[in-house]
Parts: sequence; C-alpha cells; structure tokens
Amino acid sequence: MQKIRTRFAPSPTGYMHIGNLRTALYSYLVTKHNNGDFILRIEDTDRQREVAGAIDIIYDVLNDTGLNYDEGPLKPGDVGPYIQSKRLEIYQKYAHKLVELKAAHYCFCSETKLKDAHNNTYTFNDPCKSLSIDEAKKRIANGETYTIRQTIPNTGTTTFNDTVYGTIETENKLLDEGILLKSNGYPTYNFANVIDDHLMKITHVVRGNEYLSSTPKYNLIYKAFNWEPPVYIHVPPVMKDEQNKLSKRNGDASYQDLIKQGFLSEAIINYIALLGWAPVGEEEIFSLEELVKIFSVDRISKSPAIFDYEKLKWMNGVYLRNMSLEQFNNYALNYYQDNLKADINYIELSKILQPRIQI
Ligand code: GLU
Repeated sequence: MQKIRTRFAPSPTGYMHIGNLRTALYSYLVTKHNNGDFILRIEDTDRQREVAGAIDIIYDVLNDTGLNYDEGPLKPGDVGPYIQSKRLEIYQKYAHKLVELKAAHYCFCSETKLKDAHNNTYTFNDPCKSLSIDEAKKRIANGETYTIRQTIPNTGTTTFNDTVYGTIETENKLLDEGILLKSNGYPTYNFANVIDDHLMKITHVVRGNEYLSSTPKYNLIYKAFNWEPPVYIHVPPVMKDEQNKLSKRNGDASYQDLIKQGFLSEAIINYIALLGWAPVGEEEIFSLEELVKIFSVDRISKSPAIFDYEKLKWMNGVYLRNMSLEQFNNYALNYYQDNLKADINYIELSKILQPRIQI
C-alpha cells in the first residue's frame, strides 16, 4: 500500500493561531496513525502578510508540541524546496503549461478594470480569454504586464468527495476565474497549493473548511494536468462563540499567549485534539502518543467547535497535578520569576500551589 503523506502548510504571520495548530495536529495524527510521513511546507507567497522571525516561531511551536515533521525546510527530503518563495520557477513553469492546456489564460486587465468587473458580476468574465495564445505572447514580448488566470468552463459541474463533508457538487459557472500567477511572478495560494501537493506527493490534504468552496477549482487544475487529486479532509473551524471564529486579530489567544499564561503544551495539544474530533468513550486525557493510536478520521465533526477556556484550565490542572513536585517546580520556576519579584522559597510555594492549581 502507498505510504500516506500529509502536510502542514502555515503562512508565516507571526503567531500560531489555535485553529492552525489544531489543523497541524489532525494532519499529524492522520498520517502517524497510519505510519505515514508528515511534511512541513512554509507558504510565504503573500509578501504583505509576512512577519520577520515568523518562520522560527513555526519551527519552535512544532518542536515544543512534539509535532515532529519528517520533511521540511530544516529536514529536506527529495521533493523540496519546502519554502514556497524558493519554488517560484516551478510555479511559473506549470502556470505557462496550464495555459497551453487551455485551463488558464494570460490576462492583461488592470486592477481597476478588475474591481469594476467584480462589482458587477460574481464571476469575472475576462475579455482576455478570447485572445489567442500567440497574440498574448506577442503582448508579453512587448513588455506588457500580465497575470495568468484560471479558465473555468462555462458549463457542467465539478464534483468531489470530502472525507468529512461528503460529496460536494458545484456548478462551474459559479467558480471565479481567479489569478494563479501574479504579475510579479508569485503564485497565489489557489495555484501553489495544487502544484506543491502534487509534486510533494501529498496523499491526504487536511485543512480548514474555509477551503471547501475553492476545492472544485483546484480539482479542475488537477484534471487539466491529468493528476490524481489527494484525499480531502476538511476540518471544522474553531470558534470563540457561536458567531465568531477564534482569531488572533480579534484579540483571542494564540498558542504562544496560552504558554505565557502558564498552560502546558501537552494540555493544549490534548485539549485542541477534542476541538472537532471525539474519541470513543468518556476519557478525555490523552498524550500525543495515545492520540496517534486512537485517532480516526470518521470521528471528525462537521460542526464548528467552540473553544472553552474554562475546560482548558481544568485540563491543564489535571496535567499540573499529575507532575512530580520536582517537575512542577522546574516548570513553574520561569513563571514565578516573571510574575513574583519577592524573594520566595519556591519549593515551599510549589508544595502549597500544586494541589490547588488550575492554571
Ligand atoms: N497557508 C494556508 C493557511 O495558512 C494553508 C492552507 C492549507 O493547509 O492548504 O491557511
């Protein structure tokens, strides 16, 4: 049987969002449950969103949480590079190839024209679609700026099966002909994810369900290249409450914030495993190794999961109370030093605190 390969594909935005970490965890569990490989790919093609030092944060968080990858930027296998900004020539080659296959076209429309077009219609009926490849190539040779856009058939439907959400059928005319390659030669996510997942031999794509609606477009690209699409496992969002997604931008805690507040990495991993997946039975405390053994994709839920801070506190307390006094003391030392300035007998304080502690 073919070895399973999954990937975690974060964008280096400066912090590890809890939802992203949960996606990384599920991706890791899906593959490790089947003795497969876990690949780290850095998706840094959106230069505006990039934050200095953010890639190191990704490495540190994966290291701290024990989500060890088999291949990635610091551990290259034979399908690298594993950082998208180092793969630009690959995307460019495949984007031009897609034009030859008539599943994409050169587009010379200006930003303003595009904005107007988008205001009028949901999909963008690009006038450049009617240009012949030769005409377009002449304009490119004359130095005109261009992008490469996906060409979507006006008729028919695209159907695919998602492991969690079931069969999804979309009318092609509802899919937008988005940019695949920008005028600066960078790919968009919508293109790079397909090229990389194929070339990196990813068999199972685990990602947030916000990508469900774009997946038919990706499948049209796979089809044009005559490539086999991966197995899709879209996972439900992590919410702050019934209406709002958990988001660092709204001031919600990231992994690093939780660590600063005194939560243990093991407790965070244990807790987020339950955000959108349910084990069989009542037990809720699991180490990462145990999760690898018991994880099964068919128990991932379709419904959004609500992040319950109080429950995480409870779970953290279980982990803290299970520590030896020495472990607890070592762990708490940094926290004491940051938070308590007075000259305190830490060992005595640990003895008092540990049995009571929640966080
Ligand atoms: N870079 C994308 C993100 O951070 C990854 C999505 C995916 O896993 O395909 O949302």
